[in-house]
Amino acid sequence: MRKILVAALFAAFLASQSFAHISLIKGSGHGKEPQASFRLEKVNGNVYALFGQGGNIGVSFGEDGLLTIDTQFENVADNIKAQLKTLGTDTPKFVFNTHWHGDHTGGNTVFGRDAIIIAHENVRDRLLNTLEFRGQTRTPTPKVGLPMITYEYGLSLHFNGEEVKAVHFKKGHTDGDTVIFFTGSNVVHLGDDFFVGRFPFVDLESGGSVEGLVRNIGSLIQMIPADAKIIPGHGPVSTLKDLRDYQGMLISTTLIVRRQMAEGKTLEQIKAAGFPDRYMEAGSGFINTNAWIETIYRSYSPKMGAS
Ligand SMILES: [Zn+2]
Ligand SMILES: [Zn+2]
Repeated sequence: MRKILVAALFAAFLASQSFAHISLIKGSGHGKEPQASFRLEKVNGNVYALFGQGGNIGVSFGEDGLLTIDTQFENVADNIKAQLKTLGTDTPKFVFNTHWHGDHTGGNTVFGRDAIIIAHENVRDRLLNTLEFRGQTRTPTPKVGLPMITYEYGLSLHFNGEEVKAVHFKKGHTDGDTVIFFTGSNVVHLGDDFFVGRFPFVDLESGGSVEGLVRNIGSLIQMIPADAKIIPGHGPVSTLKDLRDYQGMLISTTLIVRRQMAEGKTLEQIKAAGFPDRYMEAGSGFINTNAWIETIYRSYSPKMGAS
């Protein structure tokens, strides 16, 4: 079953570069994308979003210097630096990692030469170890790319005239997720807890859980101001309304699968039944309909020890 999921995930990836969440193995042959796909967008106040290859990077630039959230891949660090340079410097003082996946931490080995990397303790643990992830072996990250500061619940950094607040959310996309609140600029970076308008990737192998993700999104909707701008892990800069729509989709698709599980339907039967047409678009990204059904099914199966 796992092999099928991996194959489905990979096929979905190939079909969707824009939601690239690729190869978490360093230097595995994925070439650089053209520079043109790297773009810096002003979001609000001190905060910018940097789009490129991999997870969206959040950027704070001001009187105290540069801070980034996530680092995409090592082999696109030059492309990222070229965008940062347009602000005045390409050398961040601090880097937060929203979670351990390679499309968010791959560039740590470059940016960690100058910056202090900060992340949840489970991110450091995973980066330190050799992991079997989605059928591939991932080697440990060298020391330079490891978080130097870790936390269990979160921390605040006072930078560029505002409190930059990192808050850990338990068991959502992974078990090491952090959401970053730029409290003055009124911007929130949600990492991969938010795939705008798409079914999410819930990494069950890294301690993620569908139930936990739904709970986290519910909490975030309570915490995020109505007029805040949201930087998602993947997809365009969004609003609280977009997050509510995503929550509605998560809840209703999860209920559809769980109801059939309670009726004793097999995974194959649930896949054959599919979702209503209004969720077609949500399945057009990295995670297609079958992969999402399988994730929900596995996350809520008793043997998985649903959290
Ligand atoms: Zn990602
Ligand atoms: Zn991820």
